Amino acid sequence: MPLSYRQLQDILTGQADAIRQLQAIYAAMDARYAAAADRYSFECRGCDDSCCLTRFYHHTLVELAGLFSGYLTLSAEERRCISQNAQTYCHVVSEDERRNRRTPHLCPLNRDTQCLLYRERPMICRLHGIPHIMRHPYKGLITGPGCHIFEATGQPAGESPLDRTPHYIALANLEKVLRNATGIETPVRLTIAQMIVCFET
Ligand code: SF4
Repeated sequence: MPLSYRQLQDILTGQADAIRQLQAIYAAMDARYAAAADRYSFECRGCDDSCCLTRFYHHTLVELAGLFSGYLTLSAEERRCISQNAQTYCHVVSEDERRNRRTPHLCPLNRDTQCLLYRERPMICRLHGIPHIMRHPYKGLITGPGCHIFEATGQPAGESPLDRTPHYIALANLEKVLRNATGIETPVRLTIAQMIVCFET
């Protein structure tokens, strides 16, 4: 596992300010997302092809620590159940990789269509759904579509996509600060399930 329970605990105690700043960045994302969704009159009401079935990878230590802070607030019974689901998820995904296939699996934090760590869910879970743009320093303007439910509304992306750029920059800057403060260089590329397995080691 890339990081242990102990290392993550040390981050929470020694770098509490980074976790507070992460929450502020998430709040700004939520506000901008809500405003953009409003412009499209789009509301996520869940769907049977939930984005929680998509295998997203998360790439920052600060988000890993942020999710861990929420995980610790759950009851021992909830953690046991989530951890079991996470292990099953990881096993199924490695089988998929061995067989060179990609089948959808529900995120172990999704319970009855609700996210058990909604407040701490990572950036990509917050920004998915509506058309977006990103101004990349080398690649230039990158555009992305909405989810399939948004696409089904037949609306064009128009002139009001969500600009993800300031959120990516804020998160990257915070990540840099945390990496410098902790000296942790271990790269992060983890699904939610792999993060949870990390929390239990
Ligand atoms: S962390 Fe929450 S919002 Fe993100 S995929 Fe898992 S259940 Fe869904």
